[in-house]
Amino acid sequence: MRYLIIADVHSNLEALKTVLDAAEGSWDTALCLGDLVGYGPNPNECVETVRGLNGLSCVIGNHDVAALGQIDLDTFNPLAKFAAVWTKGQMSDETKGFLESLGQVEEMGATTLVHGSPRDPIWEYLEYPSQAPENFARFTTKLCFNGHTHVPKIFSQDAEDRRTEVRVPDPDEVVDTADEHRFILNPGSVGQPRDGDPRAAYAIFDADGERFEYHRVAYDVEATQKKMADARLPQALADRLAYGF
Ligand code: ZN
Repeated sequence: MRYLIIADVHSNLEALKTVLDAAEGSWDTALCLGDLVGYGPNPNECVETVRGLNGLSCVIGNHDVAALGQIDLDTFNPLAKFAAVWTKGQMSDETKGFLESLGQVEEMGATTLVHGSPRDPIWEYLEYPSQAPENFARFTTKLCFNGHTHVPKIFSQDAEDRRTEVRVPDPDEVVDTADEHRFILNPGSVGQPRDGDPRAAYAIFDADGERFEYHRVAYDVEATQKKMADARLPQALADRLAYGF
């Protein structure tokens, strides 16, 4: 079985469609790691597209929770708050119903899916080595896939001595997940990358071959920016897409 893994789509339909075109034929079942909405101009279209992906498993992210009005928006920075309020006003009943149906953690065979981290599935940004031991202790599968930081990342833990390593993968790196490590793997963000590379990020996981493949694909950033301007979403949120930050 081959899985398409997408995270942090953030209502960016151009990026999402480009990823789906690029990945066509290379996966059987889709996994989505939350933050389908927030920031971008096409919340309903993105949710509808993701809902229609074959065999979808999906967890909820902090921006999804925010757009549903389930948290105090003052925990967001002003730009994210503005976009969350805008998104809330745009969402159809179908979009809301789908987001409300999502859980925080999904376990699928050898893999656990979360948005943030195993320890705090909605909110924790998993970035530093110091966070690794606690988080590896909070799930039991060999693998965990997460999003939230918008930066591709590899956390690995030696199954014997429990030593952990954290590093940023190369843009097209293939990780051999068959070796004697457990992994927390972040594919990066489809709709708002923050690692200095504006290209949409996604991954393919081949469960039989035990390979996790990182991918990047350029999409029409200007088309998304134009839609954001038309929707009067903050200029800074449109600008950052061009820089991947
Ligand atoms: Zn996000």
